[in-house]
Amino acid sequence: MTLHITPLNLPGIGNERPLIIAGPCSAESEEQVMNTAAQLAAKGVRILRAGIWKPRTKPGGFEGVGAAGLPWLKRVKDELGMLTATEVATPKHVEAALEAGVDILWIGARTMANPFAVQELADSLKGKDVPVLVKNPVNPDLELWIGGLERLNGAGITRLAVIHRGFSSYDKRIYRNPPMWHLPIELHRRIPELPILCDPSHIGGARELIAPLCQQAMDLGFNGLIVESHCSPDCALSDARQQVTPDVLNFILDKLVIRDVSHSTDSLENLRRQIDEIDNGIIELLNKRMRISREIGQYKREHAMTIVQAKRYSEILDKRGAQGVLCGMSSDFVRNIYEAIHEESVRQQVEVMNKN
Ligand code: PEP
Ligand code: MN
Repeated sequence: MTLHITPLNLPGIGNERPLIIAGPCSAESEEQVMNTAAQLAAKGVRILRAGIWKPRTKPGGFEGVGAAGLPWLKRVKDELGMLTATEVATPKHVEAALEAGVDILWIGARTMANPFAVQELADSLKGKDVPVLVKNPVNPDLELWIGGLERLNGAGITRLAVIHRGFSSYDKRIYRNPPMWHLPIELHRRIPELPILCDPSHIGGARELIAPLCQQAMDLGFNGLIVESHCSPDCALSDARQQVTPDVLNFILDKLVIRDVSHSTDSLENLRRQIDEIDNGIIELLNKRMRISREIGQYKREHAMTIVQAKRYSEILDKRGAQGVLCGMSSDFVRNIYEAIHEESVRQQVEVMNKN
């Protein structure tokens, strides 16, 4: 299905880059919402985010103030002239949010993992002209993410943008939700007109990661940022570790270097040609390597040896990892490449082994 995407055209804001949305993870009290929003508005932020209904990993956590918080968002609109955005997870949320005049809706990462829920939301949005921001599903499944967009499109929603918030992982070494940048990049390649916002708060899960993630998103050509900001982050009822004060947010945004996305000069074309040549060489070299792997497979077959020789594999990972680090690449990057190469080599050797 071809997606039909139209610009967000936000009232009074249009389609500027970077589009900035900021506000608390959760609306907690009228005082907290108004205080945070006023500070953000004073720094030039024009769209407030605030979760009214909160999906929590475990019961017993703060599950949001619910519809009681909607009039606070209305006050933010009326008194500060900001647009407001909140998460909707059920048709009831959609109805209540639109009734209260919320300007922008977003669908959360957990909801996005469930096609039944997304379809119900889409059905409840039929005939409404509201911009919808679609977070990536918690699992790294690009088709599921696009499928969600198609469901919304099917209901007539065309003012769509996506939010990249990283992907759930058991292995939380640096990030709360590792970014796996290649997924939003591939989404952009397939649907170039779809605006992509980055949510550094949920990717990083930590205040100190907000600034570098914002810069990385801008360098990759993202259209905007949605960042969690709270008047007293340490006291936040949800996601305290990843929220920053409006002052800190302002400092981070001020320091961002925004580069032009569409600017393509002759010298850039020239550099891209060089990259293409190198990529071509990489594939040819890999092909050569695989040919040798198959010969090794043949040898192992004749000598009744097993394919995977753990010691040899560890040696390759260690040696190439160290070499990569010397060249200024991350050891994880080199390890990932060699794991993929090894997997393909093993596959090719299995083929040789099983040949009659
Ligand atoms: C949020 O934005 O506060 C939120 C719950 O995000 P996510 O759906 O990305 O976990
Ligand atoms: Mn949050």
